[in-house]
Amino acid sequence: MKKKINFCKICCYSDTHPLGLVINNNGVCTGCKIHQEKFEINWSDKYEKLKKIIKQYKSNKNIYDCIVPVSGGLDSYYIVEQVTKLGLKPLLVNYNKYFNTPLGIKNLSHLKTIFDLDLLTLNVNPNSIKKISKFTLVNYGNIYWHIIAGQTVFPIKIAIKYKIPLIIWGAHQGVEQVGMYSHHNEVEMSRFYRKNHDLFGVEAENLIENSNSINEEDIYEFLYPDDHTINKIGIRGIYLSNYIKWDPKSQHELMIKKYRYNTKKFSRTFDTYDHVDCVNYMNLHDLLKLVKHGYSKVTDHVTREIRHKRLNKYSGLNLIKKYEKGRVENLDLFCKWLNIEQDGLDYIIDSFRNNIFWKRIDINKWKFNGLSKLNSAKKDKKIKINFMINNKQNKNIKNYITIGKGWP
Ligand SMILES: [Zn+2]
Repeated sequence: MKKKINFCKICCYSDTHPLGLVINNNGVCTGCKIHQEKFEINWSDKYEKLKKIIKQYKSNKNIYDCIVPVSGGLDSYYIVEQVTKLGLKPLLVNYNKYFNTPLGIKNLSHLKTIFDLDLLTLNVNPNSIKKISKFTLVNYGNIYWHIIAGQTVFPIKIAIKYKIPLIIWGAHQGVEQVGMYSHHNEVEMSRFYRKNHDLFGVEAENLIENSNSINEEDIYEFLYPDDHTINKIGIRGIYLSNYIKWDPKSQHELMIKKYRYNTKKFSRTFDTYDHVDCVNYMNLHDLLKLVKHGYSKVTDHVTREIRHKRLNKYSGLNLIKKYEKGRVENLDLFCKWLNIEQDGLDYIIDSFRNNIFWKRIDINKWKFNGLSKLNSAKKDKKIKINFMINNKQNKNIKNYITIGKGWP
């Protein structure tokens, strides 16, 4: 018997959310309940608390006070600006995701130049990345494992190597999306969260156990350091979103105005600020999300905008219905990169279609019964949602930029 799917009455999430979400007796989800704290918290008190925490890490002796993980997209500019405003000297670290867009390379290079900071990038050898990507695609329907695993462990390895105990992150996804913790819990980075939520329970060691082709050299850079080493240096990772009222839309708009952060139009969402550095995040990765979970990134964006009170639920549902059918771009590029046929990729994608949300009606033909189909939306032609485009790049991407040169 199929489990009944319950929806939050405020946002567009349901209790099938992969990060785990609970809907209370009033029909409100934990994500919306915790998000409401943003309007109730005294943020200047929280900021004072943040200043107190970082005070102990300011150093006159060391070149760097903290580590800040960055990319050519997401909230990197805002995080770096906040960290430097706090008077800290950060070392920027970046995991090369290999699906880079020219725009992302430009954003990242520009970031280190305008803030005058050092940047360390980890380039894991492409053969290992391809082996791992093929394995996680076939076995978990996921092409982002290596990126999330790399992004969440490289900063810790550098913290150990340089003996810099403080790592500063932007937002905590579990708090932002599903209200896993209250802002008052001031949750910090943990191996537990990384394994169970970021990496859906699969750590690097598990790849070797289950694969004949992946070996120890391939996973070396993804292994989590042991507790003893982490504790010896006293490494901790804090999230700015527990101390600063987090609002990605207005933060990005400030960054466009102040630093000319580059943005990009996508075919599968209205948000032009998130993940502009990646060829696949809003394409193949987003399609796999829809295939497995019955909703895609546009639902996350709509939910965020509803919670910030810039969008009503009905306009949001119309946006979801419009964008989740959007064209998936650059699949040919992915097949070329991984040396697989498009038919093979389609076969793998189909093998992950969740039968709660998809029904096969013919060979290569599927009927979508995803979450947006269970929510009725009135036609709404006047949806007001403005996201800026700041992009002088050539639109056509012929290859991933595996390593980018400095800019300018
Ligand atoms: Zn909700």
